[in-house]
Amino acid sequence: MEGSNMETGQNLQNQPHTEVGTARPCRSCKWQTPDPTDPHRGQCTANRHAMGGVWKRWLRDVENTTCSRHEEGKLSFRDHV
Ligand code: SF4
Repeated sequence: MEGSNMETGQNLQNQPHTEVGTARPCRSCKWQTPDPTDPHRGQCTANRHAMGGVWKRWLRDVENTTCSRHEEGKLSFRDHV
């Protein structure tokens, strides 16, 4: 089990988590893909690069969710297609 448990302890900040009023919301993060049906929701695709595989996480509220992987980038819908 050792080495396979990536989701606890020190990696908590790497996980999407609620932070009300954060200055680095998922909304402005280049890893976020907006949900076309609900602008408050989206998906995080950051781990696609970190782990080499597609890994998406639902974001319930892109304004008040953040994590330490936040990277600002030009949000272009075209780039996400
Ligand atoms: S990398 Fe972090 S801040 Fe960026 S969309 Fe994913 S959870 Fe949000």
